[in-house]
Amino acid sequence: MVDSPIERGRAWIEIDLDALSHNIADIRSKAPRDSEIMAIVKANAYGHGLDKIAERMVQEGINTFGVATINEGIQLRQSAPTGDILVFGRVHIDDVKLLSKYRLSQLVVDGAHAKFLSKCGHQLDVHIAIDTGMHRLGLDPSNFDEIESIFSYSNLSVKGLLTHFASADSFDDDDISFTHTQIKRFYTVVSKLKEKGYDVGKLHAQSSYAIYNYPELKCDYIRPGIMLYGVHSQSDDTKITTNLRPVLSLRANIAQVKWIGIGESVSYSRIYTSDKPSKIATVCIGYADGVPRQMSGSGAVAIVKGQKVPIVGRICMDLLMLDVTDVGHVEAGDVITIIGKDGDSEIRCEDVAAISGTITNDVLTGLASRLPRIYV
Ligand SMILES: *Cc1c(COP(=O)(O)O)cnc(C)c1O
Repeated sequence: MVDSPIERGRAWIEIDLDALSHNIADIRSKAPRDSEIMAIVKANAYGHGLDKIAERMVQEGINTFGVATINEGIQLRQSAPTGDILVFGRVHIDDVKLLSKYRLSQLVVDGAHAKFLSKCGHQLDVHIAIDTGMHRLGLDPSNFDEIESIFSYSNLSVKGLLTHFASADSFDDDDISFTHTQIKRFYTVVSKLKEKGYDVGKLHAQSSYAIYNYPELKCDYIRPGIMLYGVHSQSDDTKITTNLRPVLSLRANIAQVKWIGIGESVSYSRIYTSDKPSKIATVCIGYADGVPRQMSGSGAVAIVKGQKVPIVGRICMDLLMLDVTDVGHVEAGDVITIIGKDGDSEIRCEDVAAISGTITNDVLTGLASRLPRIYV
């Protein structure tokens, strides 16, 4: 057996599973009536660790999931032995048998895809993607015959119909009207199929921002991803208000503390130079752990002993430096916080994303697999 070093030895992620339970309850209380949660747990449950997150979701009564890859689906089967698992990503021909073996559903994106799946000869559950304007995956509503053709394969069982919105987070008039066009296109396909007697299965369209901003939509499933984890992607401005709690914190240990004089530089490329004698703490976390390198020189902060302090100089692969001159006693082994709370201070994942020019989904899914996930 391989020895495993202690989890809080360097840098780590803390996961608050009770916050997840709280978020599930909060989402359920505000979701449209009769709609069930299809929990989106792709990319290792947005970096939170698939196994433990799924286990808690199952305990909370969630039994429908969305993942991006077949590997995620197979892994999730261990924690959700009976739930419905929809694989959004296209599966290789040699792996179609695994969809069947693990009872995973596949998203079908067009007529050719359905034909290819059917030819593999396995009995499969599928959901049909309708491209109402996102122009990513799915069938054009105007190709109704092609959509209809998917119902003709005896070994493909259609369990659902979905679409995805391009701008559900926006309050721009143009974007709102675009989303309404997408909604209309989707329900037109739905009615046409129903008129012809097809069982379309479960309808689903809303990811987090559509749950926030288009709560009036009547769907069987909602598809929250980022909101389950208690953070906004970017905008805090939403039509329905939720009371979500962040599930994840990111922390690390200090490796060394040193004093530098006036005019001395810190880290690569010397983008930071001290204007006073400064106490510098070098911390065991870097961009290889998923701390965005773009935070360098941007005014980003970390928390040390409940106090916010600046990150100084370029963030390195495995290390970064803080100016801790104004903090009392600091020594190697002290814990610092990059995302989360310490004392009265908090750094939200939204803050880290904004300063890095991206969204929280990107920050969270970018957290490295080498970080231990600790469940508290
Ligand atoms: C990722 C994804 C979601 C979840 O999106 P969030 O914005 O994180 O809620 C929902 N549906 C589909 C098809 C997705 O790919």
